[in-house]
Amino acid sequence: MSTSQGASNSNTYGYRNGNRTSLKTSNVKSKPTQRRNTTVIKDHTTVPGRVRVAVRLRPRIAEESVADADFADCVELQPELKRLKLRKNNWDGETYEFDEVLTEFASQKRVYEVVARPVVESVLDGYNGTIMAYGQTGTGKTYTLGRLGEEDTAARGIMVRAMEDIFADVSLETDSVSVSYLQLYMETIQDLLDPANDNIAIAEDPKTGDVSLPGATLIEIRDQQSFVELLRLGEAHRFAANTKLNTESSRSHAILMVHVKRSVKGRDVSHSNENGNHPHMIKSLKPPIVRKAKLVVVDLAGSERIDKSGSEGHMLEEAKSINLSLSALGKCINSLAENSAHVPFRDSKLTRLLRDSFGGTARTSLVITIGPSPRHRGETASTIMFGQRAMKVENMIKLKEEFDYKSLSRRLDIELDKLIMEHERQQKAFEDEIERLATEAQHRISEAERNYVDSLEKERSKYQKDYMESIKKIEEKVMLNQRKNEEPHIKSSVEIPKVSAEEMADLKKMLQKETLLRKSAEGETNNLKIQVAELKQSEASAKSEISKLHKILEDEAHQKDKLEGEIAILQSQLLQFSLEAGETRRQLNGGGFEKEVGCRDSLTSQVKHQQQASGNGEKPSIAKLFEQVGLQKILSLLEAEDVDVRIHAVKVVANLAAEETNQGKIVEAGGLTSLLMLLKTTQDETIHRVAAGAIANLAMNETNQELIMAQGGISLLSMTAANAEDPQTLRMIAGAIANLCGNDKLQTELRGEGGIKALLGMVRCRHPDVHAQVARGIANFAKCESRASSQGIKSGRSFLIDDGALPWIVQNANIEASSIRRHIELALCHLAQHEINAKDMINGGALWELVRISRDCSREDIKILAHRTLASNPAFQAEMRRLRLSH
Ligand code: ADP
Ligand code: MG
Repeated sequence: MSTSQGASNSNTYGYRNGNRTSLKTSNVKSKPTQRRNTTVIKDHTTVPGRVRVAVRLRPRIAEESVADADFADCVELQPELKRLKLRKNNWDGETYEFDEVLTEFASQKRVYEVVARPVVESVLDGYNGTIMAYGQTGTGKTYTLGRLGEEDTAARGIMVRAMEDIFADVSLETDSVSVSYLQLYMETIQDLLDPANDNIAIAEDPKTGDVSLPGATLIEIRDQQSFVELLRLGEAHRFAANTKLNTESSRSHAILMVHVKRSVKGRDVSHSNENGNHPHMIKSLKPPIVRKAKLVVVDLAGSERIDKSGSEGHMLEEAKSINLSLSALGKCINSLAENSAHVPFRDSKLTRLLRDSFGGTARTSLVITIGPSPRHRGETASTIMFGQRAMKVENMIKLKEEFDYKSLSRRLDIELDKLIMEHERQQKAFEDEIERLATEAQHRISEAERNYVDSLEKERSKYQKDYMESIKKIEEKVMLNQRKNEEPHIKSSVEIPKVSAEEMADLKKMLQKETLLRKSAEGETNNLKIQVAELKQSEASAKSEISKLHKILEDEAHQKDKLEGEIAILQSQLLQFSLEAGETRRQLNGGGFEKEVGCRDSLTSQVKHQQQASGNGEKPSIAKLFEQVGLQKILSLLEAEDVDVRIHAVKVVANLAAEETNQGKIVEAGGLTSLLMLLKTTQDETIHRVAAGAIANLAMNETNQELIMAQGGISLLSMTAANAEDPQTLRMIAGAIANLCGNDKLQTELRGEGGIKALLGMVRCRHPDVHAQVARGIANFAKCESRASSQGIKSGRSFLIDDGALPWIVQNANIEASSIRRHIELALCHLAQHEINAKDMINGGALWELVRISRDCSREDIKILAHRTLASNPAFQAEMRRLRLSH
């Protein structure tokens, strides 16, 4: 099955997106008109899609074959031309064109493929879809939609076949399919899956406008068999309910809702960052995407007029109610077809439920069923006209895709826990390894020491023993010699030299032996010394190994810190998301513009916001975030590669900058410079808007105002204003400049760098909030200028007049919006205080405005100021005398 964006699928089945013109001239001319009530979102997920209409002719039934035997059918079909001729008489008739013309021979399979399959495929691709049958009772609506086909597979209707296609495409591991089945009768919705539940309310999401039935039973189904059983159960309940109410099913509308929720795989992975900056983080940041689409199949009540349907005995009340929903549907389709301003969706439950199906975001396919009998020609004609009008209804089909923040949060939690566990494991392993190495080294050292002591001892005792023996031998010899010398013997004089020579030789030998022994002992000692040195060296290397391991451990700890930092940022993103969600909610509730405000006027309301937020626990979150992530880190994210990250960061900074206590820290940390840079380095309008808002908040402080000027802030703000389209961006920029306008020291520079011109340029945007900021800036500037003139610092005409502000001032001096008017009135009073401005003011019509202000300004102080100013300016006095004006 195709996974494309859906729009083209229908081509295969002849339901084209293009428009065609009916033979019945303007009737079917469905020009692709963009409706006022459709939000045209310029993204790839929205495509225009006209309501498709097929007509199906039921074969003659037995009774008709007899009764109408002599008459021709009231219609003649030309399926190949997709035309239907409604006979007036035998020779005349009118021809209509439909998206599909299905003859009495059309198989159920063909009807499904032509009418329903494109819608079902669209639902599988994430778009809402509607399939609806309209026609007189007995023409085959239920046959077309609801047949279970258990006795004959070929007879299966659209509901059963649609579910087969859905099950063939979804994967039950990641996707889910749930079903509700309802009946709408006399403006009451009954649950066909739980008959006790017989008065279900319709809920509307104020944000998306989506309608839902929170009270209806919603059953998740996992196979075709249980779906068919559910349909059978619903049918049985419908029968029972109708018996109880004493009516027939043809008087009620049956509505099957199939909710298909699919997760979109593989999208988040494709965002990997080539520069390798934060690939890990970027991946985790993309929440998974889910597509939630709804298929609605509606078997409408019979379209015949109540008086004709043999309804004797039925109460008028019922007649009205049945007509209410169906006639409301007819009215809505008329309004939509004629593209009229109001579509009465709210007139009935049916039209409220089908709001998305006609003129909404769903792909809608309508099958109108007709019978051949000439006796019902009137009904058939009215059914055909209904179909023709429905063909003109244009929908803007929109992908129902949303981020799955819950699962992102779960994923982040799991990731965090995994990291913590892994880190703990590694730390334990390192500690164990260090302990093992330390004991091993200790063992080796003590063993070496023991060996050394042992062998030293052995050598020493051996050497001592040898030495003692030699001494003993020498002593013996000496004794022997002495004795020989004491015995005077003739022989002795001869023998002495002989004996002593032998002994000498012996002694020499012994001495040599001793020397050798000593030398070998010395060698042994040296060896042992070397061994000791070696052991010492190995001990040292063990120590260095240990310190290396210490180092690795430190690195690991560092890495952990970094990961925790990243996690904190991820948490901050999450906070930001929820903050934004809260903000959006507030905006929706209040419908206002008070977000990221940047001027004195709205500062109070902003502080209020923050206080309210703190009630919801959002402010502590920001403070926590501030602590956890650190300002420096947040500011560094302003230069991140990824635009999303930058947007989140700038929003966080803007929210921080809204609080006076943070402003000093932000400026100190270079935040102001970074925000100004963002205006230059990025093209993203959201960033521009939020950054300008933050700058406007920072610009409330005099020191910061000078910093902004010194860093070329005026030209950056002017440039951003020149390219901006969003009124909120312009409002922030105007607010920032207006704050700068109130600084006496910056007047000349501000004007010199084009600040006034930039301010005036922004009135091209008609939004009153922008105008209010421009007016405030002008008033601030006029006030400072007037002060400078009085002190003699400034001479000459007002820069405001030089820069061409007067025409706008005069034009808006009497504007209804008081937020604009007050500032302008003040500006006029300031300008009027110096005679040098008088000529231009008179020529420009400002005098009239001043006179008006002095007469009927509702603010007493301004009124008095205007009055005094006029009285004190001789030029104005002269002109007023000339004009015979008094004040
Ligand atoms: P509806 O729901 O519009 O009141 P049904 O679907 O109940 O009409 O049809 C009325 C009768 O006509 C039923 O007996 C049905 O079986 C028969 N029928 C309707 N359409 C066809 C068709 N295309 N082929 C054969 N029989 C049909
Ligand atoms: Mg029916």
